[in-house]
Amino acid sequence: MTTQELLEFDREHVWHPYTSTINPLPVFPVERVDGVTITLADGRQLIDGMSSWWAAVHGYNHPVLNKAVEEQIQKMSHVMFGGFTHRPAVELAAKILKLAPPSMDKLFYADSGSVAVEVAMKMAIQYWQSQGFGAKNHFATIRSGYHGDTWHAMSVCDPVTGMHGIFSGVLPVQYFIPQPSVKYGEAWDETAIRPLQDLLEKKSDEIAALILEPVVQGAGGMYFYSPMFLVRARELCNRYGVLLIFDEIATGFGRTGKLFAWEHAGVEPDVMCIGKALTGGYLTLSATMTTGKIADTICAGEAGCFMHGPTFMANPLACAVASASISLLLESNWQQKVLSIEKQLKDELSPAVSFRGVEEVRVLGAIGVLEMKEPVDMAVLQQRFVEEGIWVRPFGRLVYLMPPFIITSEELSRLTHGLLKVIGGK
Ligand code: PMP
Repeated sequence: MTTQELLEFDREHVWHPYTSTINPLPVFPVERVDGVTITLADGRQLIDGMSSWWAAVHGYNHPVLNKAVEEQIQKMSHVMFGGFTHRPAVELAAKILKLAPPSMDKLFYADSGSVAVEVAMKMAIQYWQSQGFGAKNHFATIRSGYHGDTWHAMSVCDPVTGMHGIFSGVLPVQYFIPQPSVKYGEAWDETAIRPLQDLLEKKSDEIAALILEPVVQGAGGMYFYSPMFLVRARELCNRYGVLLIFDEIATGFGRTGKLFAWEHAGVEPDVMCIGKALTGGYLTLSATMTTGKIADTICAGEAGCFMHGPTFMANPLACAVASASISLLLESNWQQKVLSIEKQLKDELSPAVSFRGVEEVRVLGAIGVLEMKEPVDMAVLQQRFVEEGIWVRPFGRLVYLMPPFIITSEELSRLTHGLLKVIGGK
């Protein structure tokens, strides 16, 4: 196929995320990706500001990660996990559990972030069912969250910004409280926890778990809130007998300046999900962890086990590259790198506060966000960004950068300058 034929076939037959088949948004054919550079079929090169949706923290086509995949594929690209185990899965689990909150003791592999969230929610339901509390079958969460596109994950996404408003009425109804009113870095105010307290006081008999993206809400609003909210949420969950699930799928592996975002608050969840950057953006893999007590309670119940088992569970290729990616991260000076990206994003994005269309500029770790006053025209803006040689994919009122950690300060400046040029209309 020529590139033109490829684009035509794509437009006629291939569905892209959140895209109309009647009037599809334009897509740019990519030829290859290396480091922070995305090379288009026509030879244009873009600096990556997205890390392929939080995943490619080491950049693309990394020799160490390539080697891990190449070595593993010679031996075993996949084998079923029912009745078998293998080195890549066990060694990766050992690595992850060493980094996870100390109380995490059992790890369940799944295929994607959304499935990890489904698994976490099913664990919570089975945990209560096992103890005779079948009525605890709802979930609580905060508005503007995002937890994935599968059915129950979708039910705890923000009903409005979560893009799933269309399914309201058919989705299970969950309990939403407002987004934490105290932002990251602001002085804590106890009134910010009242909505959660009121909800749990009234409804804890029906609530299996509270699910949160700790500190940083991603696709639902790119909002950073006070870690004290997590401290208080933990206390309330303990008091009212509700499990606490942290969805660290976007925040994990250094993005917020800590290896995992729970560390900002120092409180541990009962269940934790990871994904995205777990494999350095190479393959889809996720994991849900929980405590020994919760796992054993689940398995002591009627079912006698946890009822889940994906076909590609613990895929050896994905596990091998995840192990290599974690070692690469830990051996790098990622903390310093994320800190310097944070500082540079703060310095270089802050002039946008004075732009007419910009509501707020916020930066945490290697995440820089411009919240606009009005929703942006994604098609127009994306085209303009490409003309500036940068890859930025806005949505709604949010235009944001989360580059691979390996980006140099010159490359990052090209991203921020390109962004400001386009947003500022110059
Ligand atoms: N949870 C969070 C916090 C996410 O950001 C995402 C993906 N954007 C998911 C869950 C779902 O992950 P996946 O797209 O891999 O299913």
